[in-house]
Amino acid sequence: MEMGRRWRPEDFPRTSWSIHRWFWRPKLGLRGFFNMRCFRRAVIFHGCAVGGGSITYANTLLRPPDKIWDMGSWAGLADWKSEMPQHYQTASRILGVVENRILGPADNLLKRAAKSLGIGHTFYPTSVAVFQPAEGEQGGKTFPDPYFGGEGPERTTCVACGGCMMGCRYKSKNSLDQNYLYLAEKHGARVFPETKVVGVRPLPGVADGSAGYEVRTVCSTAWIRRNRRRFTCRGIVFAASALGTMELLFKLKENGSLPALSDQLGKYVRTNSESLLGLRIPGYAEDLSKGIAIGCGIYIDENTHVEPVRYPSGSDTMMFLTTPLTGGRPGPMRIALWMKNLVVSLLRHPLKTLRLVQPWGWARESIILLCMQALEGHIDMRWERPWFWPFRKCLVSRGERIPTFIPQANRFAEQLAQLTGGTAMSMLPEILFNVPGTAHCVGGCIMADSRGHGVVDHGSRAFGYKNMYVCDGSVVAANLGVNPSLTITALAERAMSFIPSAQWTTWNDCAECGELSSDLSETTR
Ligand SMILES: Cc1cc2nc3c(=O)[nH]c(=O)nc-3n(C[C@H](O)[C@H](O)[C@H](O)COP(=O)(O)OP(=O)(O)OC[C@H]3O[C@@H](n4cnc5c(N)ncnc54)[C@H](O)[C@@H]3O)c2cc1C
Ligand code: SF4
Repeated sequence: MEMGRRWRPEDFPRTSWSIHRWFWRPKLGLRGFFNMRCFRRAVIFHGCAVGGGSITYANTLLRPPDKIWDMGSWAGLADWKSEMPQHYQTASRILGVVENRILGPADNLLKRAAKSLGIGHTFYPTSVAVFQPAEGEQGGKTFPDPYFGGEGPERTTCVACGGCMMGCRYKSKNSLDQNYLYLAEKHGARVFPETKVVGVRPLPGVADGSAGYEVRTVCSTAWIRRNRRRFTCRGIVFAASALGTMELLFKLKENGSLPALSDQLGKYVRTNSESLLGLRIPGYAEDLSKGIAIGCGIYIDENTHVEPVRYPSGSDTMMFLTTPLTGGRPGPMRIALWMKNLVVSLLRHPLKTLRLVQPWGWARESIILLCMQALEGHIDMRWERPWFWPFRKCLVSRGERIPTFIPQANRFAEQLAQLTGGTAMSMLPEILFNVPGTAHCVGGCIMADSRGHGVVDHGSRAFGYKNMYVCDGSVVAANLGVNPSLTITALAERAMSFIPSAQWTTWNDCAECGELSSDLSETTR
């Protein structure tokens, strides 16, 4: 069941000005694939489509450092460091992960800057899920399936348009609808697009779900005739992303459908300790929007990882979320300083300042600097009535604030601006509301040793129910310090490796049932 739409390459918007085909707010008539949710403690960006976040993500698929398996509530639950490499390998094979060979002007600029700042040795080309042209060849050539021995769809080589986050119009990005979902549907699975799950409860008579579940859905894009449907199933996998799964499970726990879910639901939500900064260089000689959305990365210190991100030429609406970087302590003083700097700059250099803050040409002249840290820091989500809308409950964020800026990242953005003659930028919500922005929200249904510490066990089995799994970013129990999709996929591969073939399963699997056995699945696969 997927509440988003199914997309064909030719349907993707050319630029972000096609708001109705980019943004997802079906009640307002916006039926795109990208969503932005604002909470008191974080602004969270996520995808919504058949293929989930992979439709809008920047296809950068990295393995995190080994140390993350020793952090958080999953530490010690399994021999992660020896088990995970095989699952990363499977996930990488299906997603077609390769080293990026297409370095665009933004990547080369970062490389030069890193070298002159003495951190050139940390520069690396990203691993990406993109079908790239052979060395020395132009992109845009179509080939029969290059990945699955002819079983998969045909692919076209990447033309380096920088549009990965607007959806790939060239059949070059290996989003999930081109591999996992394509193959599953070919083998008989059915995907129900525009179908939102609103209810899940054990079938009557057996409260632990061992007799199966009833799933209720509505059409997510209809205003009036919402096509309410009921399905039944023997087992269930929640995979609605950290926010989507928390939202659904909170609702189901509260309305008595799944009351035995752990009370740890919503705890330890992490933002990858992320900060989004930027650089705009008005009049830059090269088009910074060219290349793959994230073509490379560097480490500015042991824990701080920076990637240059781009939108395709013409996708300038992100400009409305950015503003010249302003330091200082978060709060009213920082807002005052930001306003003062802006006014002074307008008075002293009116044309230059107006040129900087107007949207046109933003994507061609700008680089978003995605800064991530594998350091501890989390918020909690609760299911409450917000003060501004007390008529119904919804997700609200609580807990200690996650710092809105990483000082060394700010310093790096300023150094980059000095080296290139550009201006360092930061996210407007960070300055105005002291709220960090992230595209990498994880956690909320974390893996742990018991229901007192988490929502699922290390095999992604929900505590309290039978044949119920959570396989998405919500189970991740540490800040990864790198983009999370490959780890989410590898964890799902691991969870599925324990599930025997249909004819062998006893439909009696649960977190409390004891050890997971991959031997069984190996012999029956
Ligand atoms: C602009 C952008 C760029 C990104 N770039 C990268 C990158 O380069 N590399 C990387 O690793 N990560 C990237 N990410 C993050 C990545 O997309 C997510 O971490 C990842 O997709 C999360 O996977 P998931 O399985 O948890 O959920 P998703 O992939 O988000 O899938 C969940 C799906 O469930 C659906 N859903 C939710 N609720 C319901 C419901 N009630 N009923 C039915 N369906 C429902 C949603 O519509 C969604 O399609 C990026 C994210 C964004 C927004
Ligand atoms: S750069 Fe363009 S062609 Fe290449 S994967 Fe991204 S959107 Fe597709």
